[in-house]
Amino acid sequence: MEPSRSPEPPAQPDPDPDPAGLALARAVAVEEYRSRLESAGRVLDGVDRALSALADGTYGTCAACGAPIDDMVLAQDPTALHCAGHGPRG
Ligand SMILES: [Zn+2]
Repeated sequence: MEPSRSPEPPAQPDPDPDPAGLALARAVAVEEYRSRLESAGRVLDGVDRALSALADGTYGTCAACGAPIDDMVLAQDPTALHCAGHGPRG
């Protein structure tokens, strides 16, 4: 198979832009991006807490009562901090 020689055509600007619609679309895209960043931040926080728990030997035990967290729960969410009795957000 020959490598493609056709470069990407330059993006054509919308010949009749709708400034209000464009601003709204951009605002929505920015909000979506911010939301994804927040979500990624929460995942990273959970990973940090799990790594700290590993380091201090408390990984896999409930942060509220110290009971072991079910292996199935940890398999689904390795950053889980609480037993079934204390809930995922306890
Ligand atoms: Zn518990």
